[in-house]
Amino acid sequence: MSIAARPRQSAAPPAPEGLTLRAFLGVFRYSRHAVRLVWTTNRKLTAVFAGLTLAAGVLPVSAAYVGGRIVDAVVAAIRADGSALDRVVTLVVLEGVLVAALAAAQRGLSLARSLLRVQLGQRVNEMILQKAATLELRHFEDSEFYDKLTRARREASTRPVSLVTRTFALAQNGISLVSFALMLAGFSPWAVLALLLAGVPAFIAEAKFSGDAFRLFRWRSPETRMQAYLETVLAREDYAKEVKLYGLGPRLLERYRDIYQRLYRADRALTLRRGAWGFLLGLVATFTLYAAYLWIALSAVRRVITLGYMTMYVAAFRQGQTAVSAMLAAIGGMYEDNLYLSTLYEYLDTYVPAPPGTVVAGPRPGDGVRFEDVGFLYPGTETPALEHITLHLRPGRTLALVGENGSGKTTLIKLLTRLYAPSSGRILLDGADLAEWDEQRLRERVGVIFQDFARYQMPVGHNIGAGDVRAFDDEARWRAAAAQGRASEFIETLPEGYHTQLGKWFQDGRELSGGQWQKVALSRALMRAGADVLVLDEPTAAMDAQAEAEVFEHVRRLVRERMVILISHRFSTVRMADQIVVLERGHILEQGSHEELMHADGLYARLFDLQARGYR
Ligand code: ADP
Repeated sequence: MSIAARPRQSAAPPAPEGLTLRAFLGVFRYSRHAVRLVWTTNRKLTAVFAGLTLAAGVLPVSAAYVGGRIVDAVVAAIRADGSALDRVVTLVVLEGVLVAALAAAQRGLSLARSLLRVQLGQRVNEMILQKAATLELRHFEDSEFYDKLTRARREASTRPVSLVTRTFALAQNGISLVSFALMLAGFSPWAVLALLLAGVPAFIAEAKFSGDAFRLFRWRSPETRMQAYLETVLAREDYAKEVKLYGLGPRLLERYRDIYQRLYRADRALTLRRGAWGFLLGLVATFTLYAAYLWIALSAVRRVITLGYMTMYVAAFRQGQTAVSAMLAAIGGMYEDNLYLSTLYEYLDTYVPAPPGTVVAGPRPGDGVRFEDVGFLYPGTETPALEHITLHLRPGRTLALVGENGSGKTTLIKLLTRLYAPSSGRILLDGADLAEWDEQRLRERVGVIFQDFARYQMPVGHNIGAGDVRAFDDEARWRAAAAQGRASEFIETLPEGYHTQLGKWFQDGRELSGGQWQKVALSRALMRAGADVLVLDEPTAAMDAQAEAEVFEHVRRLVRERMVILISHRFSTVRMADQIVVLERGHILEQGSHEELMHADGLYARLFDLQARGYR
């Protein structure tokens, strides 16, 4: 994507919409999932969490009740009722114990929460990564899907616990509210009604604004993604070189600021509206509280209730309102948590068909690789990347693919390695369709290096050992593969030989030259001792011409009974191949040996002469 391009998005933020029941219930949609996730992560802790939530819900009511009883006992004691003094002491101690118990419950809750957060974060991350390992290549090449994966990972350690915490907080405050309401009912059912009704407008407003925030958040996901991308480009080591030399910094920063300004404007509008409504509805609540206060106080003056009950009822009303606000806050956050969980579950539920194949040996061993009228269209594109590809490669022979950039060479390799399935036609290995091959067996038979091979930030040895997971730690095998891939010479000059850390991410990491990295990648492909198809997709472009020719000559000798497929722009190397296929815009233009193609005097001959002339 060009950096200057604005991400696709409608120009105006989504209009706030009225509150629908569905939007409201959306708040609870994923709570069940979250609770199940937490429960299966650690049952004991979850049970403790639930128990403490219940305790924290009912303890405030008991404390308020005892508080009221204390006032009455004090009044009685003042009237010199002898036994009342003991009662005051007992009640005060009791309230102290209750408050201490409440503090303990709250402390325990926060403890359980932090422990659960760590365990759940690890568990969700593992789920995400486990799923990632089963995904197909097309998933990683789909920007929306990739976005889903990144978002799921970024917030994995906080969101599920946050949703559970809020769900429990909602329950806890709900319990408190109900118990205070029950207590108030002793005074007057109308007071209960006033308590509940005063909360309703704020409740509706909160649900509505949370819904708006949720929609805003979703609407600007592409912008946020672009912002995150700009952060990466501006602040990461692998971009630093270009950004510096091209002086891109200020330009990118400006773009970053633009996005911020736009997001901020939308945010500010919502925040202001939310704040203003929150204040107004808060006033309603305060007004109701003091109206109720007055009513309760007058009842005490008229001696309908005692002073103690007055204290208790006022506390009940006040704390009931606090519970309502806490419930509102919980609901506000639950919208966002739900958004996260919906992304997470969409990601985890991505359908990945199991590789169906079971064939471990073809019906015609030694037949090699056949493409039969193969065509391929990348998902979401209209021009086929390959069309009518028919070719045959026998064991012991080498095939070179030639063609300009974008002609379909790498795509052909992706099909051969079953990273993608052909859209039409079929590919056979030893007479059996690739689709029917057992995944494991097929992978063992093909060794590949892509142009954009991985540079693992690990020791050299593991960079090579990665080619065969069973021999990941096998030092003797590393050495053998490195010798074949022409890498042993420079590896031995490294400070810690095969145990030298590569890359710049970790301490004492050594950066290699492009050509050295390619030698490491080549050695990695050669780790597949059992592979009888070796694919080299421009693996030697960063080496000098001499080294490339040597490597290819060497590989050719090495793989006597195997097949080698090579992609290269150097005709000095290409001409050594037994069979050369010239691709143009997804079609085979010419096919044959170097001599045949030179004789045919077509595109190959022209390109060859062009390059040869450059050397003369
Ligand atoms: P080559 O390796 O010959 O340079 P490729 O096989 O990489 O060419 O690309 C062939 C064509 O397929 C090009 O037009 C390219 O734009 C397109 N293409 C390559 N990869 C993808 C992809 N992941 N999604 C969509 N189109 C792609």
